[in-house]
Parts: sequence; structure tokens; C-alpha cells
Amino acid sequence: MNTAVQSDNKQMQEIVEKVRRGERLTLEDGVFLYKSDDLLTIGQLANEANLKKNGKKVYFIENMSLYFTNVCEAHCAFCNFRKDEGQEGAYTLSGEQMIEYVEQHIHPGVREFHIVGGHNPHVPFQYYVDSIKALHEKYPEVTLKAYTAAEIDFFSRISGLSYKEVLQELMKVGLKSLTGGGAEILSDQYRKKMRVDKADVSQYLEVHRTAHELGLRTHTTMLYGSIESHEDRIKHMLQIRDLQDETNGFQVFIPLSMQPINPKAGIRRRNSAFEDLKTIAISRLMLDNIQHIKAYFINIGTQLTQVSLTMGASDAHGTIVKERISHAAGALTPEGITREDLIWLIKGAGRIPVERDTFYNEIKVYE
Ligand code: SF4
Repeated sequence: MNTAVQSDNKQMQEIVEKVRRGERLTLEDGVFLYKSDDLLTIGQLANEANLKKNGKKVYFIENMSLYFTNVCEAHCAFCNFRKDEGQEGAYTLSGEQMIEYVEQHIHPGVREFHIVGGHNPHVPFQYYVDSIKALHEKYPEVTLKAYTAAEIDFFSRISGLSYKEVLQELMKVGLKSLTGGGAEILSDQYRKKMRVDKADVSQYLEVHRTAHELGLRTHTTMLYGSIESHEDRIKHMLQIRDLQDETNGFQVFIPLSMQPINPKAGIRRRNSAFEDLKTIAISRLMLDNIQHIKAYFINIGTQLTQVSLTMGASDAHGTIVKERISHAAGALTPEGITREDLIWLIKGAGRIPVERDTFYNEIKVYE
């Protein structure tokens, strides 16, 4: 038996053995891990689980984040990105304006556009289709990972089309994958308290289910660190795990550490480093059917990202170029990172950097 991880605590030792036997962790196991302060055991166990799945490889992508509009009909309590139409700083870019922006900021090697934005009801669904079409025509070699499940639900409402029809329209003009945003915490009670007036829990899951049925591989997230309980977080993971059992369409799970600027969201301070690392490690342990857990350096910083690579994370995200949503909410991290810095960061953790495409095909291994 591998004796790398040992704990004096009986319940912890049972969890260690369960993971080793490849048995699934339960809601009670997950909550116990969150309540434990034994970060080293949890981190080491997650590291073991990750090494079994991915070896020493840590993935990243050369990508660029784009935001067509920040006008939004919703008022999620934690959001500092949204604006009302006509408010100072509100914008809605045409395809041409976006291409102008991309031309100014793109760097060689970008192979993915990550596209999200507000739910702007002042433009029709066709606007969102045309946005994708314009980018796809100009940059056919760049993969378009666009829109959250909440945006797809919004498009369905303004167009009268079903989720399937909305997705098919977008796929016709170049959509290749959905982003993971809009999940927040998958709890109706949480959504009510945080005024998440967009896709509810079942709608979020249904959009991803539909996308997977259409052959799209998608991302999924969890925005943690405000009013939710540890139990809420584990239940969130279990709902994702159940859907993954059904469709196998999620490529990666991304824990997003809540940024603190908005007092109305009930956030008193940033998540501690301890909480961030524990969440990454617990995600790795609970989500045994998702290949990758991503450490999102925009929200937890590059140094903690590096440490998390030895506690369960196998994806260090990408270059991004200029992030806006978390920075509007008070992120203190860089808005992007160079390929060289990402490689340095991954190698510094004793791991092998692998540049990937959107679908985790390996482009280059930096041994
Ligand atoms: S989180 Fe998204 S849906 Fe909610 S207010 Fe912000 S932009 Fe709108």
C-alpha cells in the first residue's frame, strides 16, 4: 500500500482509503474535508488522484478573452461588470469594432477566443449570432468558446427558440464550445439570496446537457466564497458529477474564488489561501469523472496557482490578454500572463507544461 498519505483521524483515513480504492466520495465525505484543517493530507490525496489521471502534465492555452457588451438586464449581487444601457461606461460592440480591438491586442499563437458578456436585451438574438459569425469569418483558425449557459438561456428567452435551436444557430456560424460561467452556486436558495436573476439550477444544467447532446464539449465553474455553506459547495459538485455521468461532456471544472469588491454580496474579505487550495483539492477528489481541475490565476494569483498544481490542479488556464470581469470586482492579479511566465510557473512546481487547444489536444510539450 502507498503510505505517502496517512492521517491519525479515523474518518480522514477512511476517505484516503476510499480514494485509493477508486470509490466515490459522498456528500458527508466532502463536507468533512471542508471542515478539516488538515490541508496537507487533503492536498496530497488530491495530488495522488491527479497524478493518476494526468501524470505530471499541466495544461495551458494561448487564448484571449473578449466581451462584446457589458449591458445586462440582470443584477447579480456579486457583479461589478454589468451596466445599464446609457450608463457611463456601458458599451455594445459591433463585429467590426470587436475585430478592430482584436487586431490591436492579439499576439501570435492565440488559438482560442473566450467570449462572454452581459445579457443585453436592447439587441436581438441575431446580434449575438452575428458577433460569432464576424469573428469566425475573420479568424477561422481560432476556436470560438463562447457564451455561458445563462447567456444561452437568455438568448432562448429573447428569440423564442429552444436551447437546442439557439445552440444550432450559433454552431452554424462557428461556435465550438461553451464557457463554464453562470453556474455560481447551484442552489435555488443561494440564487434567490444573491439575486442571480438568470438561468436557475435546472436551466444551467439543461443547457449543458443539450450542448453535450449536440456534440459540444463544455467547461463548468463554481463561484465560491460568499454566503454559501460547505454543504452547498459539495452539493454543487455532486450535481455536476451526476450530469457528467450522464453526458461525459465537461472537459474541466473551474473553482472561481469570489472577488471582494461588492459589499451587497455579503462578502467581507477575500477567500484565504487555505480555502482556495482546499477547494481545488476537494474538487479533484469529488469530481472523479472530470479530467481536469483548473486553477484560475486571475482570481487566486499566480503564486497560489503554482502551489495548487501540487494539490490537484492540472490546468493553469491561459494567457487571457486582458481580463475584465474579475478585475471589475476587485481582482488584484495581472489581467493576463505571457506564455513564458506560464511555462516558468508550471516548471517551478516540478510539472511538465503542455500547450493545448480548446479540446485538450496537445500542441506542444515543454519538457
Ligand atoms: S454576472 Fe452576468 S448575468 Fe449577472 S449581472 Fe453580471 S453580467 Fe449580468
